[in-house]
Amino acid sequence: MLRSTPPTQFTARGKSHQLPQYLPDATLGVVRHLTSQEVANLGIKGVVVNTYHLKTQPGTEVLNRFQGIKNFMRWPGLVVSDSGGFQLFSLIQKNPRLGRIVAEGVVGYSGPNQQHKTLFTPEDSIKIQFQIGSDVMICLDDFTPPTADAKRLAESVIRTTNWAARSKVEFERQLEIAGFSGWDDPKRPRLLAPIQGHNHLEWRRQSAEALLEIGFDAYGLGGWPFTAEGKFDYEFCELNAQLTPEPFLRFALGVGTPQNIVRLFGMGYRLFDCVLPTRDARHHRLYIWAESLIKLPKTANELQQLEAETNPWVQSLYINRGVYAQDESPLDRHCDCPTCQTYSRAYLHHLFKVKEGLAFKLATQHNLRFYARLMEILAVQN
Ligand SMILES: [Zn+2]
Repeated sequence: MLRSTPPTQFTARGKSHQLPQYLPDATLGVVRHLTSQEVANLGIKGVVVNTYHLKTQPGTEVLNRFQGIKNFMRWPGLVVSDSGGFQLFSLIQKNPRLGRIVAEGVVGYSGPNQQHKTLFTPEDSIKIQFQIGSDVMICLDDFTPPTADAKRLAESVIRTTNWAARSKVEFERQLEIAGFSGWDDPKRPRLLAPIQGHNHLEWRRQSAEALLEIGFDAYGLGGWPFTAEGKFDYEFCELNAQLTPEPFLRFALGVGTPQNIVRLFGMGYRLFDCVLPTRDARHHRLYIWAESLIKLPKTANELQQLEAETNPWVQSLYINRGVYAQDESPLDRHCDCPTCQTYSRAYLHHLFKVKEGLAFKLATQHNLRFYARLMEILAVQN
C-alpha cells in the first residue's frame, strides 16, 4: 500500500503539467497519420520523441534552426525525449553485427560490411536532447531482455548507474550553457533515470538506491515488465514503485494496455507511453468500452473497481472483419472522438478494405481518444 499520495502535477521548463498522462509515440516528431493539432484536440497532452532517430533525421542542424522539436512540429504540449537506448539495444539484440555495448557507450556498425563505426555516449544523448528542447529528458541506460542471466543483470545495473551519473554531469553542463541557473532553477527541463535489474529483487533495489543517491526528478520502469513466459509482471512493477518513494514522479516506460495502465496507476505510476494504440489502429484493432457497460466510470476509484470486477471492461474490435461491412453503428457508442461522432463501422471497414490512408487516421484518432479518456477518468480522485 502507498504511504503517501503520488503527485497530481509536475513542472518542467516553468510550465505545470497535469498527471496522469499517456504519451503517444511520436518517434520522428509526428504521431503517424495525424497533425499535432489533431492530436491535441483528442485531449492528448504530451508525446514521446526519440533522440537517436531525430539525430539521424531531420538531424541536429534542422532542430537547432527551429529551436527544437516543439516549434518544428508545432506541438503545444509536453515533450519527453527517449534516450535512444532501447532502440539501439533492440537493434543489436536482433543482429549483433550492428553494434555492441561498451563502458563508454553504444558502438554502432553500419555500411555494406559494417565498416563504419560510430559511438553514441550518454553525454551525446543528453546534448541532443537539449537540441530537441524536450521537457523531460531520459538518461541512456543499459537495457536487458527478460532472458538475461545474473552476470548480465549485474553488468546492466552497474553500467546504468555509471551512465546516469555521467548523464547528470552533462545535463548540468548543458543547463549552464543554455543559461539556466542550475539544478534548482524551476524553469529547467527535468531529468529521468530508468531503473534496471529486471525482476531480480536485489539488483533492482541496488539500481534504485544508486540512482536515488545521484538524484533525479523522475524514475522510470526500466526493462521489460514481462515474465519469461511472456505474461505481464505486475509484481516487478510494484517492487519498482516501492523503490522510488514520493514525491518522485514514476514513469511506466513502454506501458501498456488499458488494463496495465489502470493497475499501474494504483501502484503510483503517473506517466505512461506506449506504441499499442497507434500501432494497433494501423492493424485494424480498435479499443472500445465493453458493450455490456451501461455507463462509463467517472473517477479513478470507479475505474479501478471496474478493473477488479469486470472482465473485460475494454474490448478489441477488429474492424476488418466481414461482420462490420454493413454495420451502421459507430465504433464505440461511448466514444466522443471525431471518428465515432461522424462515421459508421461500415465506412471504416470499407476504407481499410480499399487501403485508403484516411482509415489509418480515423482509427488512430479513435484509439488515442480512448487512452486520453482513461487519463481524464484517472485524474478524478474521490
Ligand atoms: Zn471513437
